[in-house]
Amino acid sequence: MNRPAQRSMCSPTVRCSLCGDDVSPDHWGAHRDVENFVLVEIRRLHPEWIERDGACRRCIRAYRLLGRARTTVRRAWRRASAAIAA
Ligand SMILES: [Zn+2]
Repeated sequence: MNRPAQRSMCSPTVRCSLCGDDVSPDHWGAHRDVENFVLVEIRRLHPEWIERDGACRRCIRAYRLLGRARTTVRRAWRRASAAIAA
């Protein structure tokens, strides 16, 4: 599907499809080099999102933190499960 990022008519900003904020084009496009687990985190909450929709830097950062937190929790859960089983 071809859904380019919406551009504002009166200012040089790009609307983030994830958070809805209008951001400078300088803060745009970070999703292009992003790790796969970040894309997975985005799609967890925005199943309709495709890379072409784009995302602002702040969202990329937030979803990266979310992915890392999920990994940390998963590891802690495994350790706790092993401790309980022992
Ligand atoms: Zn955003």
